Amino acid sequence: PSITRGVAVDIPKVTWEDIGGLKDLKRKLQQAVEWPIKYSTAFERLGISPTRGILLHGPPGCSKTTLAKAAAHAAQACFFSLRGRNSSSNVTVEERLLTTLLTEMDGLEEAKGILVLAATNRPNVIDAALMRPGRFDKVLYVPPPDLEARYEILCVHTRKMQIGDDVDLGRIAEDTELFTGAELEGLCMEAGIVALRENISATVVCDRHFQTVKNSLKPSLTEAEID
Ligand code: ATP
Repeated sequence: PSITRGVAVDIPKVTWEDIGGLKDLKRKLQQAVEWPIKYSTAFERLGISPTRGILLHGPPGCSKTTLAKAAAHAAQACFFSLRGRNSSSNVTVEERLLTTLLTEMDGLEEAKGILVLAATNRPNVIDAALMRPGRFDKVLYVPPPDLEARYEILCVHTRKMQIGDDVDLGRIAEDTELFTGAELEGLCMEAGIVALRENISATVVCDRHFQTVKNSLKPSLTEAEID
């Protein structure tokens, strides 16, 4: 559509399986994006209006953007990320798009087929305009990964990696309590680099490689955030 001219728009390749943990949240998002398409006649029959806006909030690096991409993939919908004033060279185009989307969200008819999924890691500074009643029907918290989620995240990010028999992902999950998903991903990738640094013909990433990286990392979450 013409309103997205000048903004990089794509259907992402990320799927729900690429995201560790967050079962309930994934189910809620799945229903919000897939049901109105799959069961559109049932929605009409019962007079249910589809979700028009979802706001994800939570600490950085805990998969808000990735969830939005997986939701777009599931719906075969376009995804574009509007990152705000300072980090963008395309300010005018992106701002025009945001304004258009917000206006569309206000009009019942016009918004048909549009679901806006927004994410922030600074809930206190959410633009008042964004939070106007009726724009976001769902405000969902994306928490830091718990033990089970950390294990699943480690599994996701070692899927394509040859890991040694001595690697116990369950134990690494236990030892990484304050790590975000992004940091766990970084841990896996860095462990691979350490293995290569040790031996450029290495084929397997072993426990000592994971341990070296883990001991050198300082997680960014605090105890208060995981309570
Ligand atoms: P920010 O608030 O900084 O924008 P975010 O919450 O949107 O962060 P993402 O950008 O989705 O976080 O995640 C950063 C990286 O961490 C991604 O590359 C993603 O693969 C990985 N990651 C984070 N959480 C998970 C998870 N639950 N499962 C798998 N990978 C994850």
